[in-house]
Amino acid sequence: MIKILILGGTTEASALADAIAKRGLPAIFSYAGRVSSPKPQPLPTRIGGFGGVSGLIAFLAQEHITHIVDATHPFAAQMSTNVVAAAAQCGVKAIAFTRPAWRPVVGDQWQSVASVDEAVSALAGPPQRVLLAIGRMHLAAFAAQTQHHYVLRLVDQPDRPLSLADYTAVIDRGPFTLEGDMALLETQRIERIVCKNSGGEGAASKLTAARRLGLPVVMIERPQLPSRLEAHTVDEVMSWLGDNS
Ligand code: NAP
Repeated sequence: MIKILILGGTTEASALADAIAKRGLPAIFSYAGRVSSPKPQPLPTRIGGFGGVSGLIAFLAQEHITHIVDATHPFAAQMSTNVVAAAAQCGVKAIAFTRPAWRPVVGDQWQSVASVDEAVSALAGPPQRVLLAIGRMHLAAFAAQTQHHYVLRLVDQPDRPLSLADYTAVIDRGPFTLEGDMALLETQRIERIVCKNSGGEGAASKLTAARRLGLPVVMIERPQLPSRLEAHTVDEVMSWLGDNS
C-alpha cells in the first residue's frame, strides 16, 4: 500500500498536495514550521523538524511511508541531504520536485555569488537602497555593510527588531506579479537587489522588473546537493508515483 510524505514549504509542494488529494492517495504533508500561519493543505499535515536523519527514518517507519517527495525550497539543503540519506538507508523511494534555476537573459545585470557571505561582500561600496529578497534567516549577515538602507520582503512581521541599522520591512507573500514588483522597486527607490536563485514563476517577476528598470542583481546561486532523482512538474511526480508503486 502506497503512502507518501510530501516535504513542503513551496508553491510546488502545494500544487502537488492538491493533485494527490484529488486522486485520494494516502499522504502526509510536512512543514518545517518557519512561518506563523502556513498555508492549509488538503492532506493531513504535520509541522516541525524530524530530528535529523535518524528522526526522519523513525518517522518513515512509524507512518509506513513508501514514497518521499522532497518539494522543499532549493536552498533547504539540510532537509534535502537528509532525505537522500534516509531514503538510501531504509529503502524508501524518493524524488525531489524542484524548479529549474533561473538563467540570465539579455538585459540582465547579474553578479552571481556562491553564498550569503559573498553577497554581503558584493555590497561593499557607497550607500544604496537595497532590496533583500532572501527571506528572514540570513538577514543578520548584512549588518556588516552598515552604509545601506535595506528593504526587506518578509512573509511575517519580525517579532523583534532586526540587527540591521537601517531598514524597511515590507510584509508580503508570493506568488508576486510584475506590476507589483515594478511598483515596489519604484516606490522604494531600489538601486540594487539581492536574491537567491530559487527558480520558478512566482518569484521571477522581480528579475523582470529589475531588467526593465536597469537594476543590478546580486544572485546567490544554489547550494550543492547530493545526486538524486528530480522532477520539475506535478505530472512528472504523479507518473513517478504511478510507475513506482
Ligand atoms: P534546511 O536548512 O534544509 O532545514 C533545516 C531543518 O529544518 C531540517 O534539517 C529539518 O529539521 C527541518 N525541515 C526543513 N524542511 C522541513 C520540512 N518540510 N518538514 C519538516 N522539517 C523540515 O531548510 P531551511 O532553509 O531552514 O528551510 C526550512 C523550510 O522553509 C523548508 O521546508 C523550505 O522548503 C522552506 N523555505 C526555505 C527557503 C530558503 O531560502 N531556505 C525559502 C522558502 C521556503 P530536522 O533535521 O530536525 O528534521
